[in-house]
Amino acid sequence: MNSIATCKQRLPLPELLVRLGLFDQAPKAGNHKCPLHHERNGASFGMDPKNEGWVWICRGKCATGGDELSLLETFLGLDTKAAIRAYEHLAGIGGLASFSPPCGGANAFSPAYHRPLIPNPAPVILKPMPIELPHDLHKGSFEECATVSQLRAVPVETTLLMSKAGLLAFAKVAGFHSWIVLDDTRLIAEARRMDGALYPQWGSLAERKTHTLKGSHKSWPLGLTQGTGPILLVEGSGDFVAANYFCAFTHRTPSPWTPVAMLGASIKQLDPEAAELFAGRHVRIVPHVDAAGKKAATQWANLLTKQNCDVDGFDLSGLTKTDGNPVKDLNDATSFTATHGDALRQLFSPTGGIL
Ligand SMILES: [Zn+2]
Repeated sequence: MNSIATCKQRLPLPELLVRLGLFDQAPKAGNHKCPLHHERNGASFGMDPKNEGWVWICRGKCATGGDELSLLETFLGLDTKAAIRAYEHLAGIGGLASFSPPCGGANAFSPAYHRPLIPNPAPVILKPMPIELPHDLHKGSFEECATVSQLRAVPVETTLLMSKAGLLAFAKVAGFHSWIVLDDTRLIAEARRMDGALYPQWGSLAERKTHTLKGSHKSWPLGLTQGTGPILLVEGSGDFVAANYFCAFTHRTPSPWTPVAMLGASIKQLDPEAAELFAGRHVRIVPHVDAAGKKAATQWANLLTKQNCDVDGFDLSGLTKTDGNPVKDLNDATSFTATHGDALRQLFSPTGGIL
């Protein structure tokens, strides 16, 4: 039996759709609302068992269909080779260790991992000059996304979807193969090494775990143009990946949360155009559990309150990871102990703020 046949046996289309967060429960053969184009009325998405696997078709807006592999190609934006690697990984037959969802976390929400299907707001007219990006900047291959998912302890769906959405890219930075967080504004980009090591001291730059790309506007909140609803505001590129993981749990709710990151606790100003995009929105800040994190959160809360935002916070202190160590930031929270399922659920509760 070839690997695709094994994948189809282990993770057939109905279960694959649940794993990707496109359905809450394994859908039966027949017609459904199409989860790929967020269909509200109608049932354009048909699926039926066929031979060893399943076939699906969207007779509506997507106007496409195929088997399990085509679904991964369509939903994750992968070519066939990468879709095969992703399918093997999801079905647990790839060479990579599979991510095990946090026992408290994954059970605390419906397991929806995908990016919001809401349309992006109209592009913002930005006055500052965009940064210069490395000439070899590219969307991630399956292997590159899988490496970041392992480095940051999130499922590979999170990094694949971030890459598809243009929030994660890859390039050589300061001489090292790196992963880069950025957004469609091209105003800020921050790199980290793929091998997890520090960038060495160079000129006036000290040894550092992150390298901000030249020309970046540090006061631009990364990811802000990606949605229009409530905002989960975090600190740093590591927590930005974690926030993408957690916010995906809300993406099929009527009001999905948008992950946004300030890239540094020392940022005391908001870009004026960013301030306008925040205006009137609900912003929940998840500070790092340290003095600098708390101080930064208080400053940001004050700035956002001036924009008529409804600001609250989520305090991670007191939570412990599965290994027993305290949670220090949102990234640590991808590994919660089961007893903290309730705490995690509060992350997106209407009034879960403690700040
Ligand atoms: Zn569709």
